[in-house]
Amino acid sequence: MNTDFEPVIGLEVHVQLNTKTKIFCGCSTKFGLLPNTSICPVCLGYPGVLPVMNEEVVRSAVKVCLMMDFMINTYSRMDRKNYFYPDLPKGYQISQFDNPIGVKGKLSIDTDEGKKEIGITRIHIEEDAGKLIHGDGVSYVDFNRTGVPLLEIVSEPDIRSSKEAYLYLKKLKQILEYTKISDCNMEEGSLRCDANVSIRPKGQAQFGTKTEIKNLNSFKFVQKALDYEIERQMNVLKEGGTISQETRLFDSGTGKTKTMRSKEEAHDYHYFPEPDLLPIMVSEGMIKEATFSLPEKPDDKCARFEKQYGLPAYDASVLTADPSTADYYEECAKFCSNYKMISNWMMGEWLRELNERSVSAVDSPVLAKDLAGLLNMIENGKISGKIAKEIFPEMVKTGKTAEQIVQEKGLTVISDTGAIETMIKEVLGKNEKSVQDYKNGKKGVLGFLIGQVMKASKGKADPKKVNELMEKILS
Ligand SMILES: [Zn+2]
Repeated sequence: MNTDFEPVIGLEVHVQLNTKTKIFCGCSTKFGLLPNTSICPVCLGYPGVLPVMNEEVVRSAVKVCLMMDFMINTYSRMDRKNYFYPDLPKGYQISQFDNPIGVKGKLSIDTDEGKKEIGITRIHIEEDAGKLIHGDGVSYVDFNRTGVPLLEIVSEPDIRSSKEAYLYLKKLKQILEYTKISDCNMEEGSLRCDANVSIRPKGQAQFGTKTEIKNLNSFKFVQKALDYEIERQMNVLKEGGTISQETRLFDSGTGKTKTMRSKEEAHDYHYFPEPDLLPIMVSEGMIKEATFSLPEKPDDKCARFEKQYGLPAYDASVLTADPSTADYYEECAKFCSNYKMISNWMMGEWLRELNERSVSAVDSPVLAKDLAGLLNMIENGKISGKIAKEIFPEMVKTGKTAEQIVQEKGLTVISDTGAIETMIKEVLGKNEKSVQDYKNGKKGVLGFLIGQVMKASKGKADPKKVNELMEKILS
């Protein structure tokens, strides 16, 4: 990469809210219904119908505003954004233009150089369009998604690399997941991202001409598309060309971006205030209520985990990455006081099992208190860590507790003095030569004799106790 240039990146994220019904009518927002079965005259834009704002949408927007330190506009307004597209039956989208619900938010990301604050220009409420499905020379349109509520979150052009863009999106998703206003499922399109990128000579204050990249449905694709686009723009400039302001599509197959259309300007949409809806007034009561219902912020939770459970910063950040993992950890910690051991197990065996099943902590096949039960058995010397690792997959498979499995399989550590003494005497009886060697000063055979006892117990004898008793008996 040519270091004389620096990229300037801004991101626009669309978040689908998880309200039960659409933004202006009572149709269900459920994903995966048969096409065109969750529609009505309002969301299909029949003449003469009147939209009514879903209050839950405003509540969700206020919560997100509070989580990311936005200034909330207590008076905001919906506007019409006019354009024609087959998935937009009204011929306009109801959105917010110059009076969005929130402005001047921020979030911080952890870069290799430390914390960096990324400004967020605005957050606004709007409705989603329908979905076009193309195939076999025919195109279909599904209006189920028409009128599903969205929040659009537009960052300042504060991002300087594709890595920072990735970190910003991860952090944004984390905050939205904590706020529980969206399922943030990228495969189902609940979280979508467009990226604006330009480059400029390092040290220059003025921005270069930017392009907008659409069709980015994973954070990895955002990073790849930006890397490609930054390189492309640099090559154009180095060859003496100019960048044209345009919208480009990212093709995940080739890893390249290509021209989609020249970029439209705001005035192309002929925005005007939506005459069928009242302005949105956010009352103090509403803000208070939302504040009261807010979750602990992810950064605060991470700091608390370090302090309260004495965990290293790395562990705390992994365990608080999403709210359900954090809840699972705290549930375990209620039953088991070896906090670091819980962390080790969750980051190791537990996460591996979840990843293999592609499920989140909410659907963990092992209950938090059962994992704690397993760990307590190690703590109390009832089983060894090695045996525990064999038991855990069994717990995942059968749903049984560690205690049950240990009993059924007879895996408990043998720590009974009498039983161990009997085993030792038996081993010594069979190895008289080694015993003689030991008595003649060849202390090295002790390890061999202990090994024989462990073998006889099928690895279940408490090794510390075998050691102690062996030395006692031999002397
Ligand atoms: Zn409807």
